[in-house]
Amino acid sequence: MNLEALHSISYGVYVIGSRKGDRLNGQIANTVFQITAEPPTIAVSINKKNLTHEFITESRVFTVSVLCRDTPLSFIGHFGFKSGREINKLEGINYKIGKTGAPIVIENAVACLEAKVIQEVDVGSHTIFIGELVAADVVTDKECMIYAYYHQVKRGATPKTAPTYIEEKKIEVVIAAKYKCNVCGYIYDPVFGDSDGGIKPGTPFEELPDDWVCPMCGAAKSEFTKVV
Ligand code: FE
Repeated sequence: MNLEALHSISYGVYVIGSRKGDRLNGQIANTVFQITAEPPTIAVSINKKNLTHEFITESRVFTVSVLCRDTPLSFIGHFGFKSGREINKLEGINYKIGKTGAPIVIENAVACLEAKVIQEVDVGSHTIFIGELVAADVVTDKECMIYAYYHQVKRGATPKTAPTYIEEKKIEVVIAAKYKCNVCGYIYDPVFGDSDGGIKPGTPFEELPDDWVCPMCGAAKSEFTKVV
């Protein structure tokens, strides 16, 4: 079995919002899809360990913000690598409260959906929540983020677009090591640099400024380990 085959399935990148009483939370998910058109229903797969899972199970409502292609890594890291058990993830974020009382993240969203859970399927590590749409809106006409773009271009795992500049630099930095964030798993690849942090392609990890932080989770440079 070649599990690489699964990587060819397309997804977007979404913030899933929910509430439990007055408490609000949001998390990143890539598994959102439309199930039926009449009535319009959508599904989302959420890990049982996540606080959002607890919130959706309790309130029976969830929201989906479809993220735009130029969403900063730090924004995705904020919702994806921090826990609502430790911080209020909505603080300082542009969001509104929807019809269901759940938070709808507007920041970096191209579209927003809101649903009431009508069914759920226990699939072991995750629960698939199926919801009937109660509201939906388009926020901007920007392009939406595709999961593969997020991995291949934003994180630099595979050079999707290969400007000559990067190609030339690649030869120079071929011996420069990659470094991995011990907190979130982000890999700093000197071939690509860190566009969100203003680091040019071809910058070795050792030459990053001392105050440079992980573009995903904000961890300090000292939290990084060389990838062997
Ligand atoms: Fe990190």
